[in-house]
Amino acid sequence: MAILSFLGRASRTIKGYPKLLVLCTLSLSSGGLVAYSESQPDTRAPHVDPNEKEPKKKRVVVLGTGWAGTSLLKDLDASLYDVQVVSPRNYFAFTPLLPSVTCGTVEARSIVEPIRNIVKKRKGEVKIWEAECVKIDAANNKIVCRSNIENNLVGNREFSLEYDYLVIGVGAQVNTFNTPGVMENCHFLKEVEDAQKIRRSVIDCFETAILPGLSEEERRTNLHFIIVGGGPTGVEFAAELHDFLEEDLVKLYSAVKDLVRITVIQSGDHILNTFDERISSFAEKKFRRDGMDVQTGCRVVSVSDKDITMKVKSKEEVCTIPHGLVVWSTGIGTRPVVRDFMEQVGQAKRRVLATDEWLRVKGCENVYAIGDCATIDQRKVMEDILNIFEAADKDNSGTLTVEEFKDVVDDILIRYPQVDHYLRSQRHLRAVTDLLKDPQGNDWQEVNIEQFKLALSHVDSQMKSLPATAQVAAQQGAYLSRCLNHRIQCEEKPEGPRRFRGSGRHQFRPFQYKHFGQFAPLGGEQAAAELPGDWVSIGHSTQWLWYSVYASKQVSWRTRVLVVSDWTRRFIFGRDSSRI
Ligand code: FAD
Ligand code: MG
Repeated sequence: MAILSFLGRASRTIKGYPKLLVLCTLSLSSGGLVAYSESQPDTRAPHVDPNEKEPKKKRVVVLGTGWAGTSLLKDLDASLYDVQVVSPRNYFAFTPLLPSVTCGTVEARSIVEPIRNIVKKRKGEVKIWEAECVKIDAANNKIVCRSNIENNLVGNREFSLEYDYLVIGVGAQVNTFNTPGVMENCHFLKEVEDAQKIRRSVIDCFETAILPGLSEEERRTNLHFIIVGGGPTGVEFAAELHDFLEEDLVKLYSAVKDLVRITVIQSGDHILNTFDERISSFAEKKFRRDGMDVQTGCRVVSVSDKDITMKVKSKEEVCTIPHGLVVWSTGIGTRPVVRDFMEQVGQAKRRVLATDEWLRVKGCENVYAIGDCATIDQRKVMEDILNIFEAADKDNSGTLTVEEFKDVVDDILIRYPQVDHYLRSQRHLRAVTDLLKDPQGNDWQEVNIEQFKLALSHVDSQMKSLPATAQVAAQQGAYLSRCLNHRIQCEEKPEGPRRFRGSGRHQFRPFQYKHFGQFAPLGGEQAAAELPGDWVSIGHSTQWLWYSVYASKQVSWRTRVLVVSDWTRRFIFGRDSSRI
């Protein structure tokens, strides 16, 4: 009772300080979470016919309840649309804490929030169908879905939905690069169920290794944990596993503690190679100091239930090592439903579904794709250079003055964000008009088209595709919800930059990503962080920053309280090694 009344009081207190919450979220931000305040739940009975004959509102169908989908739903004004959500899991999972679930540092239920809890707090009704979209029929604005509930339930498990706008946010799937034996013999770390399975298997390895009648070699094999992939997920899992072994399991399985081995296999030359060099070399040194075996420059060629075979690139030799458990964490690939859709919209040759800068799928006006399932195909300045020049040359003189250029600069910076990135990367260029200088640094009074091309010839070199992260997915979801909420207003009064290849303005500003930095927890209460402005921080204090950012970024106060109490429980009692 006392706890309930405390929680009631706490939730009322929190409701009174929405600004504090937003401030806290922004200041500690790493890109886009999802803080919501309570409102009255909608108790209306749900509609059973998803395809009403004459819907008054435009129908928006959202696929997926991951980072992208949830961030969209959280901000979407559902009173403006008939909103339906299709996802095979009826919850949102806070994926950055999945590695902590593999070792019981945090419990699985502490990092998930039912999606119905999240959307019930929104304006208007959102219909949620727990099912998988198995086919997108782009020509008929229709999708086919199938419930994936395995129980022997009565009724039709397949249904279709029509849409006016479709938002694809189905994420990605694991990528095995067709390596033989990986699907059958490796663990993955993508879903909550994967993390729970790893947790049980790690304990299994120990319980098997101490059974009587095993040779020392067999015990060693059972306790050999291999992680394939030295990216952030693989490294974080290796660090968690090492802590779990050192802090908890060695005390409980002391007879075999000296036989444990952790190997990280990375095909590149360094682990964490997308991070700053200082972080990747610190991580490598720390792992080696902790007794982990870091094998860089090795490509895994096959995995069997007993061993793993890899090619050492420098020596061109192949070696085979026995394992007790392998976790495969090497990157992501496109889901079959998205691949099939790509073929329908003329993107069969692409590796990833491409959208324009407004997150609209190329070749399909009313379909948006956000998060890991898509990539933005940023338009190059050089492709539009003639149009830009003509639009800027107001007096049709065939030359551009600095004044004329200044008139279009803002639109250029919004339409082509690579120009801004280029200016930031070139310290000698303080303003965009500095581009209009001759090679000696003198101002050109007027430039002709050839000089203009020369001035902007390098800006496209700064184009990078965005990483597949929660930060990007959440920002894209939030951006798209804003566009949908303001659709009518912006049709009448466009807010985007001018169209260089046509007339008028774009309806919306293009999506622009803001990078807030990234973390790499390295175990032993140490973490590394790469923050904007080339700022790198490594050590124990960074781990505390990590704790505060990840606590602040939780999707609800319920999960925030659960996660913090899991951390506290771990500090006091250690991790639970029961195999359940
Ligand atoms: P997801 O979050 O994967 O969501 C996809 C959704 O689509 C799910 O709800 C799924 O059930 C649903 N779905 C799947 N198939 C269908 C279908 N056919 N029909 C309908 N719905 C479907 N990023 C960071 O920025 N920081 C981190 O620290 C970080 N750590 C990570 C740790 C781990 C272990 C993992 C796996 C990822 C981590 N990421 C991190 C990456 C981040 O989780 C992803 O970039 C992010 O989840 C992408 O969001 P999304 O919405 O595109 O996809
Ligand atoms: Mg002119």
